[in-house]
Amino acid sequence: MNNFHTHTVFCDGKNTPEEYVLAAIDIGMPILGFSAHSHLPTEPEWSLSVEGEEEYRKTILELREKYKNQIDIRLGIEQDFWSSTEGLSDYDFVIGSVHSLNGDDTTWSSVDYKKENFLYGVEHYFGGDREAAAVRYFELVSQVYDKTKCDIIGHFDLITIFNDMTLEETGEMFVNTDDPRVVEAERKALEKLAAAPVIFEINTGGVNRGRMKHPYPSDRVMAFLSEHKIPVILSSDAHETRHLTAGFDEAMKLVEKFDLNLVYDYKTVENRQEVSE
Ligand SMILES: [Zn+2]
Ligand SMILES: [Zn+2]
Repeated sequence: MNNFHTHTVFCDGKNTPEEYVLAAIDIGMPILGFSAHSHLPTEPEWSLSVEGEEEYRKTILELREKYKNQIDIRLGIEQDFWSSTEGLSDYDFVIGSVHSLNGDDTTWSSVDYKKENFLYGVEHYFGGDREAAAVRYFELVSQVYDKTKCDIIGHFDLITIFNDMTLEETGEMFVNTDDPRVVEAERKALEKLAAAPVIFEINTGGVNRGRMKHPYPSDRVMAFLSEHKIPVILSSDAHETRHLTAGFDEAMKLVEKFDLNLVYDYKTVENRQEVSE
């Protein structure tokens, strides 16, 4: 199984790119993609720096050459909604992701960071209405392909990150995704993206880091992806080599349960688009 969603020491990952390459070769992975977080001036903690991006690109290209007889290495980027799109076409592939609801408030930061920060943002920008924040989240996600021309949609419903554990603790969701406004915003985003040549991730990152019980996206979204035959790809959103394919067995069960259109390489979809054009 391949994985295109990996973070190294160039952003907020724990391992070097070469450690990922060796781990991937070790398990016989045919294709390994790197997807550092695109530069965000407000988020030096987890995004590439300007100089870091240069170094990142150089490092991955050197590794590609060094290990070309053992593994197919792809140079990608996890393009945040708020990052500049300049130079994006230099990457082999792009994962398009929304992490925050505005691009310039470091306290609000990303919706998946901590509950306290999320609640601050909700209070500050949405009058305490968590579901209004979720609606805004999905409005941004609906524009991700237009803005980034991404190959892959990253963690489509990241806004649900705190739901599984909060539900377990309190019996209620942290953000009520059954609220009709949220259901509608999610549906609109799905319909918009369904018209684009994109692949959705079945992303096990939240589960691997002990924050969720179910990979992104939810069962409801998976049912939509199935119904519309939208391609999906497994991704572990790895921040360390031991998570390279973590959670893929469970994710495969969902692929089978929902009869999803699984692809192993984003190029499958690119090629199909070229053929049909
Ligand atoms: Zn992400
Ligand atoms: Zn990621």
